[in-house]
Amino acid sequence: MVHPENNAEYEGLVVNAGVDQQEIVNPYLSRMRKRRNRLFTPDEYVEGILKGDVTMLSQAVTLVESTLPEHQLIAQEVIEKCLPYSGNSVRVGISGVPGAGKSTSIDAFGIEVLERYGGKLAVLAIDPSSEKTKGSILGDKTRMERLSVHPKSFIRPSPSAGSLGGVARKTRETIILCEAAGFDRIFVETVGVGQSETACHSMVDYFLLIQLAGTGDELQGIKRGIMEIADGIVINKADGNNVDKAELAASHFRNALHLFPMPESGIIPEVQCYSGFYDLNVDKVMKMVFDYIDKVKESGYFQYRRNEQAKYWMYESINEHLRNNFYYNAKIKSMLKDAENAVLGGQKTSFVAAHDLLETYFMEIRG
Ligand code: GDP
Repeated sequence: MVHPENNAEYEGLVVNAGVDQQEIVNPYLSRMRKRRNRLFTPDEYVEGILKGDVTMLSQAVTLVESTLPEHQLIAQEVIEKCLPYSGNSVRVGISGVPGAGKSTSIDAFGIEVLERYGGKLAVLAIDPSSEKTKGSILGDKTRMERLSVHPKSFIRPSPSAGSLGGVARKTRETIILCEAAGFDRIFVETVGVGQSETACHSMVDYFLLIQLAGTGDELQGIKRGIMEIADGIVINKADGNNVDKAELAASHFRNALHLFPMPESGIIPEVQCYSGFYDLNVDKVMKMVFDYIDKVKESGYFQYRRNEQAKYWMYESINEHLRNNFYYNAKIKSMLKDAENAVLGGQKTSFVAAHDLLETYFMEIRG
């Protein structure tokens, strides 16, 4: 079978739009699901998760994603009780622009990992845009044909509610639950636009960037920041008449990477070409990832990075809590618009307006 993109008439590589989410075939399905999802006690969830019960895991993840306070209360207790059983995994972040071939690649990478390295694989996603686009398909089961029916895989689309910080936190908490349920390989998919890569980077042991070969000047299109956080770069769609272009792009990336400062890990990121669709060199890409993990485990950087991430998440949680507390405060809410107008009208500087609001807030919470 020849992929359309390998057709001789095909010019360069395009970014294809993904497919639309399908309509629910049976409108009663969601109702039935709701009825089935009765709440259990935190201990019941924990017991189910530790036994590797995927239904219990799924339901607990739903509570993690819920914004209802009573769900959050249970979820937080479940997370806390699962925490001692978590951590024993390899977490890989996979990023790329829409059309780069993330879903196709994750399907291929996942099968390779399960077959060659064993274990159980959970595929999660961070996609803060999914609320706007009404159900993005990142992590959608139907896009990962082989993994979605594999008995040792668990695929969960991105939590869809809230800010990037909120979505990322939920994904991180979901990682803990998955690990407690025995999933020792975690893939976190994220769309390579905006800030979500940084959030993803802050929860994985290896950050893999999927790129496409283009017209030769692709390096210019890449934000410096994302190159700096990549632990490895892979050029997808190196098949058919794209192989040479992909190799050329790879050498550009290799040259560019040498100009960056040495990463903290002490390992210069590798660059590989592969084809997720045709399963070419997928084994090499996974070997690159797992060799890196072996090296950093030996050097101690693996644990160092996890510790740094744990600290980062503590501060992130504090920041988010403080911010929410401030903006949800009734008095502050009622004053924000006026303050904004005062700044726009030139009656107050931004700093004075901010200072006044904060003063009011601190007075409020002191009672
Ligand atoms: P995502 O949006 O990053 O998840 O990308 P998809 O996995 O949905 O892939 C986008 C398009 O690229 C689809 O038409 C795929 O069939 C195609 N594609 C993905 N991987 C490859 C590959 O290795 N080679 C070729 N030729 N096409 C691919």
